[in-house]
Amino acid sequence: MASLRLATLAIHGSSLRDAHGSPNTPIYNTTTFAFDSTAALLDVIEGRRKGALYTRYGQNPTLFALEDTLAALEGAEAALAFASGMAASAALFLALGRGGIVCVGDAYGGTLELLGAQLPQLGITTRLLLRSELDRLDAVLAEGAGLVFFETPSNPRLELFDIAEVAAVAHAHGALVAVDNTFASPVNQRPLELGADIAMHSATKYLGGHSDLTAGALMGSRALLHQVAGWRKNLGSVLAPETAALLSRSLRTLPVRVQRHNASAQFVAEAMARHPRVARVFYPGLADAADHALATTQMHGYGGMLSIELHGSGADATRVADRLRLFALAPSLGGVESLVTQPCTTSHRDLSAAERARRGIADAMLRLSIGLEDPADLVADLEQALRPGGASAARR
Ligand code: PLP
Repeated sequence: MASLRLATLAIHGSSLRDAHGSPNTPIYNTTTFAFDSTAALLDVIEGRRKGALYTRYGQNPTLFALEDTLAALEGAEAALAFASGMAASAALFLALGRGGIVCVGDAYGGTLELLGAQLPQLGITTRLLLRSELDRLDAVLAEGAGLVFFETPSNPRLELFDIAEVAAVAHAHGALVAVDNTFASPVNQRPLELGADIAMHSATKYLGGHSDLTAGALMGSRALLHQVAGWRKNLGSVLAPETAALLSRSLRTLPVRVQRHNASAQFVAEAMARHPRVARVFYPGLADAADHALATTQMHGYGGMLSIELHGSGADATRVADRLRLFALAPSLGGVESLVTQPCTTSHRDLSAAERARRGIADAMLRLSIGLEDPADLVADLEQALRPGGASAARR
């Protein structure tokens, strides 16, 4: 399968078929699987044969089929599917981060809470470095850490890290590298090809793509994921077969969806860059974006996420968010429908105003997840919401 291209792998990444030749792996809605003999049972338990055994262990054909496709999309040997993105991160940190974890740059709030407040309660050493402190990574790793974790592009400023560069520093200290690839999706960026050891996804976002499922995934070498699988098994955080089948269905259209997200986000970003009420647009596809050059070499597309900073106050931005009609005011991303959030009232609400300022997250910032609507309608919606006085008609 390695020589096939991404759009083909999205559809043919799993070769599992049922006895009737269905192109989709059936939903094996069962907790357990029966064997003809104890010898056959032991072959699976003792790993001599890959087979279905018990769904919580992940040994269910619906999960095998999904994981084959997930692995193929990231160019990985193997993949593990989880009940959520946080379940994937938690199992990753517990399995491979017990020697210490360094998180660089902004990350999803739940990830920061797990790393900053919860894992230290278990005696796991964690360090959170701002992007501006990246030059300290070498020194921090010299003090000892087993895992470097980061998001690129990051939330909400869409800043990039050079994956190959961070991987080189981490590997020099014997640390593993895991990249949260949720914002980019494997269509736009494949961290393993750039030197990372693990790609992590909240499959709730682009991989699922329709805001109708919650799931997570890790992709990497068989040996590394084998270590994580034991934690998934006993934390009980495997994905349910019904959701696995829904996610498998979504993956078939991932490349076409993401290409359209990319094109529409570029269109909206360029329109917002011209708008007099917009002070700044954060989108790596803009020629004057700080990370544009890196995005062009590291990514295959600039993604469907962008943020805008308005001239004015946080209250002004709240008014704009409330006036949008097509963009739903909802804290997620990556679905077919466009969403808006104001980081200071949602994802970054728990940070002090001073800390938000230190991270460059203005109160007048809005984060946009560009969906698959006609981008001209999205720009028109933004323009009416940005108009002084603005319309007040109800959202759709
Ligand atoms: N990583 C990123 C970048 C996210 O945006 C999120 C959720 O918003 C997560 C991880 C957590 O994923 P989930 O909600 O599927 O647990």
